[in-house]
Amino acid sequence: MSHSIDCEDLLERFCRYVRLDTRSDPHSAACPSTPGQWELLRLLESELKEIGAADVRLTAEGYVLATIPATSKNAGTPRMAWFAHVDTASELPGGAKPVVHRKYDGRPIVLPDDPAQQLTVETTPHLREKIGHDIITASGTTLLGADDKAGVTAVMGAVRHLLRHPEIPHGIIRVCFNPDEEIARGMTHLKLDDLAADVGYTLDGEDPGEINFETFSADAATLEIAGVSIHPGWAKGVMVNALRLAGSFLSALPAEISPERTAGRDGFIHPVEVAGNADRCTVRMILRDFELGGLAAKRAAVEQVVAGLRIVEPRAVFGLTFSEQYRNIRYWLEKDMLPVELALEAARRAGLTPFSSAIRGGTDGSNLTARGLPCPNIFCGMREVHSRCEWVSLQDMRKSAETLVHLAELWQKRA
Ligand SMILES: [Zn+2]
Repeated sequence: MSHSIDCEDLLERFCRYVRLDTRSDPHSAACPSTPGQWELLRLLESELKEIGAADVRLTAEGYVLATIPATSKNAGTPRMAWFAHVDTASELPGGAKPVVHRKYDGRPIVLPDDPAQQLTVETTPHLREKIGHDIITASGTTLLGADDKAGVTAVMGAVRHLLRHPEIPHGIIRVCFNPDEEIARGMTHLKLDDLAADVGYTLDGEDPGEINFETFSADAATLEIAGVSIHPGWAKGVMVNALRLAGSFLSALPAEISPERTAGRDGFIHPVEVAGNADRCTVRMILRDFELGGLAAKRAAVEQVVAGLRIVEPRAVFGLTFSEQYRNIRYWLEKDMLPVELALEAARRAGLTPFSSAIRGGTDGSNLTARGLPCPNIFCGMREVHSRCEWVSLQDMRKSAETLVHLAELWQKRA
């Protein structure tokens, strides 16, 4: 029984996917938020049909769904879903010109379209472990888009492999390629009834062997400040400038609990936008912590700063609101760790040393897990994501696909 996946097929697919510009757009209300994503979704729909997947469907909201029919008669096997997102981060241009650096020799990689963009083993320590691998980068002016097209490629590789090797026993596997993860709308329009799965895995992690079952818990906060307006020539003793109050608020926020000064398991308060004028001003923030207690403490810290400003400037009106964004998936997964344990075992069977780390962010699995579909995250090999120096090793993508094939078999064995 072969679990070894065809590398050249993976490489061709990956290069095809990253050439398409699929940046999502937070300012668009459409779903998917950009037409470029439709292009990749339609391509994946036709490729899934071509390799023989069943029930291939592209929904009106931009989800590609498909099935790998069961090869095992073991009726108790849970239905597993694999997820990867087709969009890329909006901050940098998409539409990469992929460059393949065959059998990487350890010397600096200079990106051809902007020689200032260089990857070296000194500045990119993980590259040292990849000597001998085939490394793929962009050409220097765009994202590569390995986040998450490496995940898309790994899923496609595993689907193709299982369809070509019906001797590998597994249950029903559902495939879902979704839009708009980077703008936190990846799962907004997915109906769990359409998906019809019992357990899911996102393919949206970095290091080979990495299986995540912890993410941040996340809240958003909005402070609306209403000042007092009057002609500045007659303003003495009357005007209350909302912009100055916003400045006071920002400088009073504890600077040590900011993203730029925290790492590991520490959370933060992060102002992301100030908008308005001297009369009315709005400050938007995001709050992050792995623990709900820590998140509550961050809400309290913001409230305390606002309470202080109300005393200093009673003529202004301060409206502070919080909203829940997502919760640490561990709160659900720790009740039944089997989906995580099988993923760790699958990575081991793919020849890797499995490990878990807490993601300083959320995944599409955050939403799915909270809605009742347990959904840990599996590595796909992407590196230096959201930068012009983004890269991926072809051999790491293959390990990701092989982990999925082992995982399919393991779930069937457990049933
Ligand atoms: Zn991603």
